[in-house]
This record gives sequence, C-alpha cells and structure tokens, in this order.
Amino acid sequence: MFSEEPEGLKKKIKALIAFRVIFITLFFAITFFFWGFRKFPYHNQFLYLIIGVYAATIVYSILYGKIKNLRYFAYTQLVIDIIFETILIYFTGGIESWYSFTLIITILASSIVLDKKAGFVIATQSSIFYGSLLNLQFYGIIPVKTEYPVEVTEYLYKIFIHVSFFYITAYLSGYLSSRLETTEKKLEEKDFDIKDLEFFNQEIIESLPSGLCTTDIRGRTIIFNKAAERITGIDRKNIIGRKIDDVLPSFKFPFKEGRRDEVFDTGNQKKIIGLTISPFRGLAGDQKGFIVVFQDLTKIKQLEAEIQRKEQLATIGELSSSIAHEIRNPLASLKGSIQMLKEGTFPESHREKLMGIALTEMDRLNRIVTDFLIYSRPSPLNRDNVNICALLDTTIEILKNSASENKVLINRQYSNHIEIVADSGKLQQVFLNLGLNAVEAMPDGGELTVAVSDKNDTIEIDFKDTGTGIEEKNLKKIFYPFFTTKEQGTGLGLAIAYRIIEEHKGAINLETVHGSGTTFKIILPKKNEEKQG
Ligand code: ADP
Ligand code: MG
Repeated sequence: MFSEEPEGLKKKIKALIAFRVIFITLFFAITFFFWGFRKFPYHNQFLYLIIGVYAATIVYSILYGKIKNLRYFAYTQLVIDIIFETILIYFTGGIESWYSFTLIITILASSIVLDKKAGFVIATQSSIFYGSLLNLQFYGIIPVKTEYPVEVTEYLYKIFIHVSFFYITAYLSGYLSSRLETTEKKLEEKDFDIKDLEFFNQEIIESLPSGLCTTDIRGRTIIFNKAAERITGIDRKNIIGRKIDDVLPSFKFPFKEGRRDEVFDTGNQKKIIGLTISPFRGLAGDQKGFIVVFQDLTKIKQLEAEIQRKEQLATIGELSSSIAHEIRNPLASLKGSIQMLKEGTFPESHREKLMGIALTEMDRLNRIVTDFLIYSRPSPLNRDNVNICALLDTTIEILKNSASENKVLINRQYSNHIEIVADSGKLQQVFLNLGLNAVEAMPDGGELTVAVSDKNDTIEIDFKDTGTGIEEKNLKKIFYPFFTTKEQGTGLGLAIAYRIIEEHKGAINLETVHGSGTTFKIILPKKNEEKQG
C-alpha cells in the first residue's frame, strides 16, 4: 500500500536518520556520564557500535535523495537498526542485557515512519532476532558472558515477554499513527477547502463589474475592488485603512442606507455615480460596517437625457401638426364663406347662411384654442369640499338638451350626498366631457347611467352608455389630444379629462364592447390633500 505521498515519507526518513544520530549520541553521553569510559564493562564494543551507527548515518545521508524507492530505503534502515540492536544486546549479556528496549524504539519508529504493517514486520524481525539470540545463548552455541547462571524458565519467560511486548507495541503504535494520519489528511483537506474558498471569494470581488467597497463601523475602508479603483480613479493603496470620506468626499460618512446618485469629480471629469449603501452584519446580526456598491452612470444618464429630449421634440412635433390640422379645417370653410360673400350676387337668405357658417367656424376655432390651452396649461387645483351628487345633477341638467335631441334616457344611481375634496369646476368639466361623449355615441337613442359607489378612501363614478362602443384599434389613442372620430370633434375632451383626474391623483379606466356600449370609470381619492411645498 503506497498511499503516502513521497514528500511526506521523505521528510520522515530524514527525521529517522536525525533521530538515530541524536539517540546514539545521547545514549553514549549518558552511559559515560554515569560510568566513566574505563569503568564501563563493554566500552570497546560500545565504541565500535557507535562508530558503526555513525558510518551508517553517513551512508544514508549520501543515499538520501538518490534512492527512488523510499519505502525500501526506510525498511533497509530499520532492519539494519534491529541488527545493530541485537549485536548490542549480545555484547551486553544477551538475556541479562538492559538494552532490549532499543528494539521497542525501532518498532515504534517503523510504524511512525512507514505504517502499521511495517510495525508488525519489524516486530517479527525483532522477535526472531531476539529469540534466536537467547536460544543460541541457552544452548551455548555462541558464547555470552553472564554474571550468574540462568535457568530455563527465565529464558522462556524473557523470550515470551519480549515477543508479546514487540507485538503490542506494533499494534498500539500502528493504530495511533494511522489515526493521526487520517486526522492530518482531513485537516489538510479542510485547509485546502478554506484556502480555495478564500481565493474564490477574492476572485469574485475583483471580477465584479461594479465598484465594491466595504468599511468598518467607523467608516474606515476595508475592501476596495478593481472596478472601484477604475470608477473613482483612486488607487486602493491610498484608501484602504483610511476613513472613506477623507479620500472620497462624495461618499459622505456617516452613511445613509439606500440608493442615491452622487456627482463625483475625478479632477478632469465629472461623473454621476449610483451608490447603494447597506449595512454589513455579522452572523450574530450585529452590524460590523457598511457595504457600498456603485456604478458609473454618466453614460447612461447622458443617453437618457438625450432620449428624453428627442421624445419631447417628437411629441411637440406631433402636437403641432395636429393643431395645424385642426385649425386649418375651420379656416378653410371660413375662407370659402368670405370669398363667396365678396363675390356676392345672391339672395339675402343665402348671405345670412354664409355669415352663419363663418360665425360657427370662428366659434369652433375659439373652442379649439381654449380647450387646447386648458389641456396644455393646467391651472392649479382649487380645492374645496364638493358634493359629488349635486355636481352630477348639474351636469345632467346641462346634458339634457343634447340628450333629448338624441332620444337618450339618463338614469341616476347615486344617493343625495357624497362629499370629497376636489376642484368642482374641473370635475364638472370631466363629467360634461364624458357625458357628452356618451350622448354622442348614441345618435339613435339609448341609455346613459351615471352611478356613484362609495369605497373606503375613494369613490368610483361610472358613465355607462349603450352606444357604439370603441373599436379595439382606437382604444390606445382615445386619450391622446386631437384624436377624434367625429366630424366636428376636437379630440380634446378625453385628454383634458385624463389630465384633470391625474391632477386629483385619481384614475380613469374604461370597459367597452364594440357595438353595445362603453363604461368610463373614474376613481377619486376622497381626501385630496395639497402637496406640501
Ligand atoms: P371628441 O369627443 O372631440 O372626439 P374626445 O377626446 O372626447 O374627443 O373623444 C375621443 C374619441 O374617443 C371620440 O372621437 C370617440 O371616437 C371615442 N369615444 C370617447 N367616448 C366614447 C364613448 N362613450 N363611446 C364611444 N366612443 C367614444
Ligand atoms: Mg368629446
């Protein structure tokens, strides 16, 4: 199982080599500190051993970095360590030796440097070497000096206890090192995730097309992204850590949350910047600072202004041609009448008739001009308490003449008194315009129903007729000034009505079925307060 990445193993092998030298040096130093060189019974053997370990270390250091199969390299070292240790035990009395603990250290080292399996392999090697040494000693095959004669049970006991400890050590250290490794791996993964996420966030912030800036609660700048630098022309070096409005006076601190536009002077150019400021809260909901997102709106605003200008010009043009058209018609008939009068050899009755036409046309011209002025130059509302029902009564009175001409019946569906705040003169005009349109839409007779319903804060006034209805294609245009389908119409009635209702902050809607009638609905607020200032 080669799960370990070579870099980790390489480091561990380095540590193993270093640890071995330190251990042997310390071992040597402690031993001679307590014994003195001459008194130590095995001083010569000890010296060879130490020289051997140092020599091995030099060889390992030379090979380190050259050997590709690191596992093999580590195993070799561990096996050689066991051999050295067995020799040490042999020199120091075999069964009587104090130094069998060094085998345990090597077993520990193998499960730390390699893995659990290596721990067991080295434990097995240790058992075989130690067991063989003691056996050979017992049968006297190799000569080992002992101070006292040793019994059979003691040999067996020593072998048994050592082998057990070798395996227990391999098991425990293997278990711990594998646990450690998985935790390490998990931590590493997590660390990688977090680093990844941070990097990702940073990338997002920098790639945003909008300026992004965050400040702490006292207005000191924390983040200032690339787009923010580009829009403001300010390098982040010069703003991060400083109070934002010291560097950017248009970002006035303390911040007012919400959206607003600011004019921003970069020195050589005035920019319009759209800012959105929102609080920046921690997970616990406590405010930590502010987030400012901003865009350069200069170009958009310029375009908007240009479009608006163009639209205005277009509307003025359209309106002018409509007025010209409306005025030309009556002028033409005026001119015709006057020309005929000038040539003038016809009976008195004919003359009277021509004069009549001229006067009517003049009246019409006058009406067009007056209506147009009402439409185009609205006067301020003259608010008062108005009884809508009384106002509708008066309107119906005025309508009666034209209604009876067309055989139109008028129904009233309202109570006696509903009061609202409004301009009575202007509302009267709206009612008359709607009433007249209804009557004119029923040339062969019909019914006009005027109804009022009282809602909570508003009232709704309906003008319902059983007339011609409005064709689908005209629906969009009927509120435009000068749109008319009538021979004698000015096309200003509904345009004026719309404007007046708008001034009252109300609404005007309609329902129509071509061929069977139309209902105009006016919705008005009851309390029409004047705007302050
Ligand atoms: P005018 O009455 O001078 O034509 P208006 O602005 O009052 O101008 O009306 C515009 C047009 O809307 C009318 O010419 C007509 O075609 C249509 N219209 C308005 N009210 C009604 C209605 N009650 N029934 C049918 N058509 C209507
Ligand atoms: Mg009209």
